[in-house]
Amino acid sequence: MKNKVWNPRKVVIVGAGDVGSTFAYTLVQRGIVDEITLLDVNEELVQGQVLDLAHGQFFFPAIKIYAATKADYVNAGVIVITAGTKQRPGETRLDLLQRNAAIMENIVDDIVVQDSQAVIVVVSNPVDVLTYVAQKRAKWPRGRILGSGTVLDSARFRYRLSQHCGIDIHNVHAYILGEHGDSEFATWSMTHLAGMKIDDYCPVCGKCAHWEEEREQIEKDVRDSAYHIIDYKGATYYAVGLVLVRIVNAILRNTNSVLTVSTLLQGEYGLEDVCLSVPCVVSREGVARIVQAELPLNEQKALENSASVLKEAIAALKLSGGVRK
Ligand code: NAD
Repeated sequence: MKNKVWNPRKVVIVGAGDVGSTFAYTLVQRGIVDEITLLDVNEELVQGQVLDLAHGQFFFPAIKIYAATKADYVNAGVIVITAGTKQRPGETRLDLLQRNAAIMENIVDDIVVQDSQAVIVVVSNPVDVLTYVAQKRAKWPRGRILGSGTVLDSARFRYRLSQHCGIDIHNVHAYILGEHGDSEFATWSMTHLAGMKIDDYCPVCGKCAHWEEEREQIEKDVRDSAYHIIDYKGATYYAVGLVLVRIVNAILRNTNSVLTVSTLLQGEYGLEDVCLSVPCVVSREGVARIVQAELPLNEQKALENSASVLKEAIAALKLSGGVRK
């Protein structure tokens, strides 16, 4: 199997649950891949998802959809890992850590043993810690393993700003950085509407009476989004499915898109040995480079706070002997 020819347009999705299958459903319609293959410990679920997707074949570009084996890692372009257990109502993402770290290590071992040349995209939560776990386990060049990070949160932030300001979402440029979780924060210094910094745009718009408070509320709403959706319907999967298409598209089509994916920092932003989200240029090789912006002191402190939260979680994991350095 090891001499199978590399197919950069082949995507392996590990975890065929809500997120994995929604991503597959979104991806099949885009015409950017020619093979999608699903792997899950629940083999019946995989069979069901594959058939359900394949029956839509008439309506989307030609594509091969099938159940994967571990041998499928060898020639894949991208491996997207959504396997794991779900966030339960009221549970923080960090609570999921212990359960999902062991799963991640096993999957990464299976990928590494196949000598895969793929880029790995980690989605399972807590995504930053699991990206770190995958990174340390695989020992690959750091750019080849990335987490979906705060790409979803940044999309939610843009949506909230767009709604609040009455501006087309495509004219809103804004990032959430740090942990994909409770310590994430909005980089107001990087937020632009209609090409203007938000602080310059607001007086021109003049719509809000109490912008400072409204700004705090928007940031809070974004941070708490997943909790609300999980309370309502038990899981989040539509928006993250689209996020994953965006990330995979950047890799497969080498677009050099700036995305707030989770990546291993080695001195950037003054931070070391932690995975979290900062603006990254994403291309064929995964994270091609990290964009080092000059953050104002409060945002730099918020980033450092996220790093401490995540390092604590990693340290707790190390105590259990889970992370192989
Ligand atoms: P789900 O329970 O519907 O699906 C998870 C699947 O993983 C299940 O089908 C399960 O059988 C499978 N699985 C478990 N162990 C496995 C293994 N060792 N190998 C292969 N498959 C295995 O959950 P979901 O709603 O799809 O969520 C999946 C993960 O994605 C969760 O950790 C969730 O918190 C996370 N998530 C992340 C984001 C993000 O933005 N990063 C957004 C939404 C959900």
